[in-house]
Order: sequence, then C-alpha cells, then structure tokens
Amino acid sequence: MSESLPPEPADHSRAPDCSGRTILVVLAHPDDESLACGGTIAKLADAGAKVVLLCASRGEKGAVSDPALIAGTDLPTVRARELGEAARILGISEVCLLNHPDGDLRWAGVPQLHVDIVLAIQRHKPDGIITFGEDGLYWHLDHIGVHERTFTAVKSFGPWAPPLYYVTMKEGLMHEVVDAARANGAVLKGRPFNVEPDAFGDYAKPPDFVVDVRDWVPRKLAALRSHRTQIGPDNALYHLTGEQARRLLGVEQFRRAPLDAGWDSVLEQL
Ligand SMILES: [Zn+2]
Repeated sequence: MSESLPPEPADHSRAPDCSGRTILVVLAHPDDESLACGGTIAKLADAGAKVVLLCASRGEKGAVSDPALIAGTDLPTVRARELGEAARILGISEVCLLNHPDGDLRWAGVPQLHVDIVLAIQRHKPDGIITFGEDGLYWHLDHIGVHERTFTAVKSFGPWAPPLYYVTMKEGLMHEVVDAARANGAVLKGRPFNVEPDAFGDYAKPPDFVVDVRDWVPRKLAALRSHRTQIGPDNALYHLTGEQARRLLGVEQFRRAPLDAGWDSVLEQL
C-alpha cells in the first residue's frame, strides 16, 4: 500500500518529439492496454512514436457483458476484433496478439512466452518497454506472469536492455470510478472486471513519475468502450461522463524497473 502521493504531473507544454522512437507494450489481455496506459499510448503515438503492443492472450476466459455480442462467432475472435478497434483509436502501429492460455499465463508455456518477448525486442528494437508491475494492477495472476516473463526477457539483454517501465494504478481509483457511476444513477450488478474495486492499485509500489494524459482521455475512454464484451452497462467505466473521466483517468503512473539500461527513454519526458 502506498503512503506517498504520486508526483504532480510535469509541464507538458514542451512534449518531446518522439518520431523515430519505438515503445513496446507487453500485456496479458485485450483491454489491458486501454485500462492501464491507454492515455500514454495515445500521447506517444501523437508525439510520433511507433507503439507496438504484444498481447499474450485473447482473453477467452473473461466474463462476457452481453452474449449477443458473440452470436455466430466465438469470444477470442470478438476480443481480437475489439482489440484491433482499440488499437486504431489509440494509434498503436502494430498488434502482436499471441495465443497463450488466458488464466494460465503465469504457469503455462513459460519458456515460449519468454522467447516471444525476446523475439519482439530483437525485431522492434524498442527505446522503452512497458509492462505490469509486481502487483499485476490488482494481483491478477496473468498480469503477474507477464510481468515476470517481461522482466526476465528484458534482463537477458544485459547492458543492451532497453529501459523497462512498470505501469500501476492509483490506489482507490476504481472505487472512485464506481462512486462516480453510481452518482450518475448507474445500477451496477457486478464489480468492475469481477474484481473488488479496492483491489486496483492496492499493492502497487509508489510511482517514479506520472504522465498527464488528460487531453487523451476521450480516446482512452473510447478505446476502453470498444471492448464491448467487457465494458457493458454493468461496468462502471461505461457510465462515466467526459468530465468525470478526465478527472479520474487523466493521470497514468509508472515506475522504472531495477535494471541497468544503457539509455533513457522518452517516457519520463512525456
Ligand atoms: Zn488483463
């Protein structure tokens, strides 16, 4: 549990030119990219960076907001389509959607996932890599598995390892999102993503820096809502107004992994 407040957002009037830079984002499921760091991705893309997303699974074990959305097809196909739409909204250049087993990412196919991440680093030569922190956003074992594999894969590059960043969520954020949705009259039958709202960010270590993404929140929210099988009327994020979303989702937070990367990335300057 973090006792210190995250640092104030920096002055972003002098956002860097990120053209020629590549950022690799390694996450577990379709929707992680939008929920965890959709604003930062969109901001990077607008600044000229090439953002590549490696998504380890197709999210086939997740709950479905409305069975009608997968009528005549199957959930992995629909989630892949939703991810493609979110990627388009956020400006992601390339999505590499792997087929590791949703729900088993920490234990199944460990060597293969390691190799997949190493190959992505070799192919894209990123200037920086984003993945989950040790807390997996809300102690989600798939997220923790991807954190572990990514750390090990990046570390294997030794002194040539690109800087690695852990994205975390602010403690109490999802509780505020639920309160805001209820204040708007939403009747929520379930919990967001079937998780206790207070679990989000509860175990996160304090961030090293935050990125002000308030101006990118409309795209972050649109990307989140493109995951329609996950974010339906029972999900608090469905009900936020634009003003509430800007206030609640406008800051994303990161911590630098304890690796001796040979250079700095653009993330700290965003
Ligand atoms: Zn996830």
